[in-house]
Amino acid sequence: MKTKEFGLYIHIPFCVRKCSYCDFLSMPTSERLQEDYVKALITEISLTAEKTKGKVKSLYFGGGTPSLLTVSQMERIAESLYSCFSILPNAEISMEVNPGTIEKAKLNTYHRIGINRLSMGLQSTQNDELQMLGRIHTYEEFEKNYQLLRVEGFRNISIDLLLAIPNQSQAQMLSGLQRLINLRPEHISVYSLILEEGTKFYEIRDSLNLPTEENEREMYWAADAYLIKNGYYPYEISNYALKGRECQHNLLYWSDEDYIGLGIGAASYWNGVRWKNTSDIKQYIKSPLPSAIREITQEKDEQRHLEDYLFLGLRKREGILIDKLNQSFDQPLQKIYALEIEKMQKQGLLEIVDGYLRLTQKGIDFSNMVFAEFLR
Ligand code: SF4
Repeated sequence: MKTKEFGLYIHIPFCVRKCSYCDFLSMPTSERLQEDYVKALITEISLTAEKTKGKVKSLYFGGGTPSLLTVSQMERIAESLYSCFSILPNAEISMEVNPGTIEKAKLNTYHRIGINRLSMGLQSTQNDELQMLGRIHTYEEFEKNYQLLRVEGFRNISIDLLLAIPNQSQAQMLSGLQRLINLRPEHISVYSLILEEGTKFYEIRDSLNLPTEENEREMYWAADAYLIKNGYYPYEISNYALKGRECQHNLLYWSDEDYIGLGIGAASYWNGVRWKNTSDIKQYIKSPLPSAIREITQEKDEQRHLEDYLFLGLRKREGILIDKLNQSFDQPLQKIYALEIEKMQKQGLLEIVDGYLRLTQKGIDFSNMVFAEFLR
């Protein structure tokens, strides 16, 4: 039997301060809290690895701001991961780093522990927008950090950008994108700003000059065309990469592959079952036993599995290879969803090309409608 290969996600929930739009599980840090968390994480790593057979094909440190961890903390986490899990020699090892928290000594450590891909949260190239978003850095600081990563030999860098920021015009957005493209990062993620409950932006939503839904869509497609024209391949709704630089870790989320999440709030998908770790950092630090911190969010179920397969797989621009999907289920897709697929093809939301089922441009704009059709 083929050895299972899977992804590992490590959540580091600390940030210098909360950005105005952020609803991720993140919080301000203190030396003590950070150290206690790292100790608990190392315990969870070792207890989880004992029960997890297989090889790690991708490892992702996300947050929060993982680059806030000290050199010693990163080294101890990495040592624990390498000694407890079998990590493939060619595994993609990514880490999110935020401008303003990057130092040369940390970068040397990242190299030493095998990190081969860095993802920078920039969000905007305009300083007034960065300030409004509550970011801790200016564009100039970002660029200085970016150049340092290059000088230190990082050859696979991703940059996150936000679209549809209050007061933003399409021309401003495109000029920011051009500035970024000039730096030639290997990967660019473009997300539209969404006002999530519990964020500062949500509280002051009535005072924000946000683009209409129509403007937001126009901006998205303008960014899409611009990135494609400049050599960035759109491999997912929000993700663009130079040839061969797609994020392997994200791809496994959209390709029905198994992954384990460690740390507070981290999600896992293993043999058809989904679970999530507690979001309570105090509880986690007190007792990071997998049995105590995990909550099953979805039991194994053929129909839910198929819905997730479609929901996540259709995020990929190439779509879903129908033959491959059919190997994972008792009945073929076109039998289960014959009517829905035909209807959405007629509506111009879905298309089948070379054996792949995928969203059309209209389907991307109305993806929620498409996904709702598949729910039973
Ligand atoms: S840096 Fe990222 S995770 Fe931290 S508060 Fe800002 S958006 Fe949230």
